[in-house]
Amino acid sequence: MKCAICRNGETSAGRISVLLENGETTLVFKNVPAQICENCGEEYLTSATNNDLLKEAKEAVARGVDFEMLRYAA
Ligand SMILES: [Zn+2]
Repeated sequence: MKCAICRNGETSAGRISVLLENGETTLVFKNVPAQICENCGEEYLTSATNNDLLKEAKEAVARGVDFEMLRYAA
């Protein structure tokens, strides 16, 4: 797809790390599938992926996790 930020680049599929902070909880998700702009490097997650991350984050907050590194399993 065309990048919405720079309007110049095309995005291509790749894997990124995503940092989520929620109150006292910090989570790092590795290996998250995303579309990445070849021009400016902007990263796009699908809403399904985004929902998965938020769900995991909510569970981690409920468990009282301070810091956790997770490998994203699609
Ligand atoms: Zn771009």
